[in-house]
Amino acid sequence: MFVIKKDISLKPYNTFGLDVGAKYFAKANTVEKVLYAINFASYNKLSVYVIGGGSNIIVTRDIEGVVVNPSIQGIQLQEEDVNFMTFRVGAGVAWDKFVEFAVNNNLGGVENLSGIPGYVGAAPIQNIGAYGVEAKDTIFKVEGIELATRKFVELNNAECSFGYRDSIFKKELKGKIIITHVWFKLPTKPSFNLEYGNLLDEISQYGGVNLQNIRKAVVSIRKHKLPDPTIIGNAGSFFKNPVVGPDAYIHLKKIYPDIPAFKISDDYYKIPAGWLIEKAGWKGKRIGSCGVHERQALVLVNYGGAKGSDILNLASSIQTSVKELFGIELEMEVNVI
Ligand SMILES: Cc1cc2nc3c(=O)[nH]c(=O)nc-3n(C[C@H](O)[C@H](O)[C@H](O)COP(=O)(O)OP(=O)(O)OC[C@H]3O[C@@H](n4cnc5c(N)ncnc54)[C@H](O)[C@@H]3O)c2cc1C
Repeated sequence: MFVIKKDISLKPYNTFGLDVGAKYFAKANTVEKVLYAINFASYNKLSVYVIGGGSNIIVTRDIEGVVVNPSIQGIQLQEEDVNFMTFRVGAGVAWDKFVEFAVNNNLGGVENLSGIPGYVGAAPIQNIGAYGVEAKDTIFKVEGIELATRKFVELNNAECSFGYRDSIFKKELKGKIIITHVWFKLPTKPSFNLEYGNLLDEISQYGGVNLQNIRKAVVSIRKHKLPDPTIIGNAGSFFKNPVVGPDAYIHLKKIYPDIPAFKISDDYYKIPAGWLIEKAGWKGKRIGSCGVHERQALVLVNYGGAKGSDILNLASSIQTSVKELFGIELEMEVNVI
């Protein structure tokens, strides 16, 4: 029998370690159980919230509705030819387990995304990305259940409207679909993406360039760079890197000659949000129980006992400082529930 738990703490279910409650919590490891939880919410006139691995959320208060945790497992081969293998992956598969599976089977496309926390079902939400690669590069389609109609839906890659840390699931379909499976089309003869940061230097320590060594290098760099949420609560990068036009970039460069930027097209430059936050004096600052990490200005941390609202207040102060100093609006990457 499928049991929906009542009055639980969500502390183990979010990497910020926020101690907030959920009236109902449904760990649903099949599509039928996800549907059951949706029907239960509808029958009791309650709202539905979705939490996967909880590594990209801030919960600001107790949730009075039904929290669905889609924990559907399974990596099933669907199609194969000489160039690609296509898999249907359950929303509850740990993202890094899927990457490990791909690398162990000599399939490319996701090795640079090694070590990202969370579940496969959340990968399309913000189109996870790292080291010059994004989930959209390999996502073939997304399957889910529409909350309003309880109908099964499928969106192909184009229909997901993927962008930089963005997709239709953060816009028009925000809070409207529970993703149950994601299909990935992985190349059997991958071309490697090694241009980002010090990836090549790190790989050379492990020997030649191959999928296994890229994975090892990415995991090792991430371990040194990012605070471990099991030790100190955090949700990785808190803000998106802002994108500005050439006029704004030239103007900023005159005032701050050392400002870093990546040209992403003739019309746009991406500025590292961490640099802006550090320059605004926030790196390592602590306000009560939360603060800005001492080595990674882009990561906000919970030293223990912080509330979601404390972290949001800190985020808002940082946004104000950065706006005043650089005229740039920092947009949050983390999802507020
Ligand atoms: C240390 C650390 C490092 C990180 N590094 C990176 C990085 O390099 N690149 C990157 O892109 N991200 C990174 N992240 C952010 C995070 O890991 C990703 O965004 C991840 O995809 C979130 O997965 P999750 O299962 O934890 O999602 P959750 O945090 O549980 O949910 C995130 C959002 O997706 C929704 N959601 C989750 N699952 C579903 C579903 N099945 N159906 C519908 N909606 C759903 C939730 O409602 C919520 O709005 C990092 C986080 C941490 C803590």
